[in-house]
Amino acid sequence: MRSFVKEARRRVGSKRARIRDIIERLAAAHPDATIALKSRSPLELLVAVMLSAQTTDVNVNRVTEKLFVKYRKPEDYLAVPPEELERDIFATGFFRQKAKSIRGTMALLLTEFDGEVPRRLEELVRLPGVARKTANVVAAELGEPQGIVVDTHVRRLSQRLGLTKQEDPVKIERDLIKIVPREDWGRFPHLLIWHGRRVCLARMPRCEECALNDLCPSSRV
Ligand code: SF4
Repeated sequence: MRSFVKEARRRVGSKRARIRDIIERLAAAHPDATIALKSRSPLELLVAVMLSAQTTDVNVNRVTEKLFVKYRKPEDYLAVPPEELERDIFATGFFRQKAKSIRGTMALLLTEFDGEVPRRLEELVRLPGVARKTANVVAAELGEPQGIVVDTHVRRLSQRLGLTKQEDPVKIERDLIKIVPREDWGRFPHLLIWHGRRVCLARMPRCEECALNDLCPSSRV
C-alpha cells in the first residue's frame, strides 16, 4: 500500500511543481468560490464568522438577516440583556457560549479598538471566542490574509492532493503557507472548500469529473 502511495506521489510530481496548476484549475472550475456568509461590514463579518462554528452557513445567514437589522454597532449587543441576545442567535446552536463570546468581543472592541474590527491576526485572536481559524477568515475577507484557513474541507483536500501529511490544522496551515503563493492565501481555502462540496466529496470523491485528477495522488481514475 505504501509503495502504491509513493508511486502515485512520484507520478504526479512534487507539490511545489503542482500548486500553481492546482490553483488555476480550481479557479476556472469554481469562479464563484467566495465566502458563503453574508455581511455588509467588518463588524457583521466578524459576528457571522463567530456564529458559524458548528453550524451551516445557510443557517447563519438565516439568523443574521434579522440580527443585523437589530444590532448595528458594538454597543447594541451590550445594550440588551444577555438572554435577549441568546434568543436572537438561538438557531445557530451553542447560543449561550456564542452570546458570551460576542458580548465579550464587543466590550473589547469598544475599550481597545475604538469600536472597529482590527485587521491583524494577533489583535483578532485577543477577542473573546475568536480562535485562529475565525481570525484567519476575518483577516482574509478584509483583504489582509495573514495565514490560510484550514477547515474540514481544506484539511481533507490538502491531504488527498498530497500537500500535507499532517492531521493537526495548525501544522497543515504551516505546510500550506510554504507552498501556496502569498497572493493566493485568501482565495485558496475557498477554492478547496467549494471543490470539496461539489467534487471531492468526503465519502465519494468524484475523481472522473475532477479537473485535478492528473495532479492528484489520490485520484481513482
Ligand atoms: S482526483 Fe479525486 S481525490 Fe483527487 S482532488 Fe479530485 S476528486 Fe479529490
